[in-house]
Amino acid sequence: MNIDVLNSFKNIFMNYDNLSSFKAYYLALCKWVKDNKEVFDANMDDMVRLDILLSLDVDEYVLECNTNGIVLSNEKKRIGEYDYSDTEGLLMAIVDTLWDMVTISADADCQNCYYGDMRYIKINNPKGKIVLECNDCGHAMNLDGTALNEEIINYMPASQTELKSQRNSLKEKMKTHIVDDENDDEMLAKMLLNAARHAYDNGNKMAFVALIGGQGPWKCATIPEMPHQVDILLDTIHAAYAEDKDSMLDLRFCEALDKLVTISMTIPSLSILIDTIRYEIEKEQKGTNSFSIDKEKTLDRPRKLINSNREIYKNGFSEFDEWLENERNYVIKTCGIDIT
Ligand SMILES: [Zn+2]
Repeated sequence: MNIDVLNSFKNIFMNYDNLSSFKAYYLALCKWVKDNKEVFDANMDDMVRLDILLSLDVDEYVLECNTNGIVLSNEKKRIGEYDYSDTEGLLMAIVDTLWDMVTISADADCQNCYYGDMRYIKINNPKGKIVLECNDCGHAMNLDGTALNEEIINYMPASQTELKSQRNSLKEKMKTHIVDDENDDEMLAKMLLNAARHAYDNGNKMAFVALIGGQGPWKCATIPEMPHQVDILLDTIHAAYAEDKDSMLDLRFCEALDKLVTISMTIPSLSILIDTIRYEIEKEQKGTNSFSIDKEKTLDRPRKLINSNREIYKNGFSEFDEWLENERNYVIKTCGIDIT
């Protein structure tokens, strides 16, 4: 690899201004690529994605708080000091970094590799449709986890604005009464619960699994970067069951927990599963529940899941043990129960 090219890339990281914000960093990388485009071969794997990234409007797409693990103060060490042996490796580092700064992760499991990090993308513009793409294996699927039945002709990241408007159109469809002083997430939880009941009654037996697991559009959080609001969702389910004891929501909830155990192969989904069980037990201890679950049977599930898949989790996340210990301590502290 040409040493002058490599040094000019390293220079990006010597200028503090370039790392003062995600937007500044994004622009600095794009500028360097544009100035040095002739060093990349048009046939390289990442060139298509690079062209998409170079054409994005930074104000619309670059995320202000990054959820894909990029820490600006660490970027020099991570990609700015490495002696790339070829331009293809350098291109890959740049494209992955730019992509991480403009794509929003979904708490969903890849139906192909089971471990991958799913991101929201918009395909086949101008008509356009938001789907999920696995950042690890490239598998794409619909937001509800079903198979994509159309060919991808073009794609780009889905912006925060597009994800918000997608939620708003769902709100319109549900024609939910909006009470002014009501918390947005509570309203969203009610709406999602109604949608799940409707979907389940119409034959989608996975609807409650997606709802409890917060997969794709079922994520209960009005702000896309926020985590799935498990507590608000559970409060909503218990409140709905209290109002209508024939709603079978207690059964749907237990059934969903059962299924979630078999598919929670990623850290985000395992985290949601543990959080759901923890909050349910907490509610039962406080007496704010309208139905109860079989605690011993339920606790058995994460224990077995963790024990039999420890190596798989560790493969995708080397600090798994530390992470699990933190989760475990938190559950012990809040409800006195050991999940491992
Ligand atoms: Zn995958």
